[in-house]
Amino acid sequence: MMSRSESLFERAKRVLPGGVNSPVRAYQSVGGCPRFIKKAEGTYVYDEEGKRYLDYIGSWGPMILGHNHPEIQEAVIGAARNGLSFGTATEMEVQMGELLCELVPCFDMVRMVNSGTEAVMSAIRAARGFTGRDKIIKFEGCYHGHFDALLVKAGSGVMTAGIPDSSGVPKGCAKDTLTAVYNDMDSVRTLFEDNQGQIAALIIEPVAANMGVVLPEEGFLKELRKICTQNGTLLIFDEVITGFRLGLQGAQGAYGVTPDLATFGKIIGGGMPVGCYGGRREIMEMIAPLGSVYQAGTLSGNPVAMAAGLKELSILKEHPEIYGHLEELGETFRSGVRDILKKHGAKCQITGTGSLSCLFFTDIPVTNYEEAKTSDVQAFADYFHYMLDHGIHLAPSQFEAIFFNNAMKPKDVDQTLRVMDSYFALKE
Ligand code: PMP
Repeated sequence: MMSRSESLFERAKRVLPGGVNSPVRAYQSVGGCPRFIKKAEGTYVYDEEGKRYLDYIGSWGPMILGHNHPEIQEAVIGAARNGLSFGTATEMEVQMGELLCELVPCFDMVRMVNSGTEAVMSAIRAARGFTGRDKIIKFEGCYHGHFDALLVKAGSGVMTAGIPDSSGVPKGCAKDTLTAVYNDMDSVRTLFEDNQGQIAALIIEPVAANMGVVLPEEGFLKELRKICTQNGTLLIFDEVITGFRLGLQGAQGAYGVTPDLATFGKIIGGGMPVGCYGGRREIMEMIAPLGSVYQAGTLSGNPVAMAAGLKELSILKEHPEIYGHLEELGETFRSGVRDILKKHGAKCQITGTGSLSCLFFTDIPVTNYEEAKTSDVQAFADYFHYMLDHGIHLAPSQFEAIFFNNAMKPKDVDQTLRVMDSYFALKE
């Protein structure tokens, strides 16, 4: 007999492409039937059959406090009682703007949007408007949402599906997108030399989390800052994953490098559809209605979404010890995994920082996209299903992150390590 997830997946495939509303959810690279989740609480998600899983997806980032946090839930219900959307200015948007500008080093001004994709698309437009230039540089394996100009050598689902570029993107849209190699300054220098005076912006995930998790090498982000300043190019940090995860100041605080613009996504919405972009005042003053760069959104700054985000960010601000706890969970996990790999002679790489990790099924260290692609995705799929069968809910792709949340306890990490140990013992 079919499980409820299986029968729902069959129904879903008739009306939703691939049965899903976002590709990675379809288990395209690991095979099998996605678990349809009915509810979530703390560290756990529960599928339609009522089976409980220790969850390392965390809605791909926003659930940094754990699922269904009671204060966020209350804030959302409270806001909903006053009305779901007004399409007018509200006090909560002012509070959100003030909080973001206080916490994010590069923010003098900020504009709320509804997703990470929208944030990046708008930031790129602002950078082009401000500089009067068209070209942009991105890095292979970095994902910045599904905006036409950035679906070039992208990570995340694009990488999982083995699609280097998307069809449906006009050549013209991608022609001004130049790609460099992550952690390779020479590749960046060459692009600047070949395109002098033409590059509006360089955008990067300061910790890459869409080709698995790849850390910037010592000094790399500082060198990028330098070359951008020298060339009048705006440096954009896409902090959709790193924002409020590597600390209250995001990657820009953690690495001590201040970009000109930064983009944030889901994590500032506490689970509601939210994103924002912001940066230096003179750039942000180019945005309509102040300036000539048009960007708008009926539901932007939506009151229910603002209530959720404000509550989440306020909790993080008032309890900075949360980051110590997340760091400890991440470090305990990574050192435990290192021991397991050594014990069983498994040829894998464990990467990460703070509450972001990744286990690459490759025997070479991973510092860029080409190296990430050496991973054995079949081996990952095998491991993924073993973990799932043992109640551990990982992202269904080799090229996504493992997210820790504040509701997790050391015993949860221990349990995860025990399951991993038994898996690698079987494979010895
Ligand atoms: N930038 C980065 C770094 C991301 O990881 C993502 C999605 N995970 C996006 C942009 C796009 O965000 P969204 O899915 O909200 O459009």
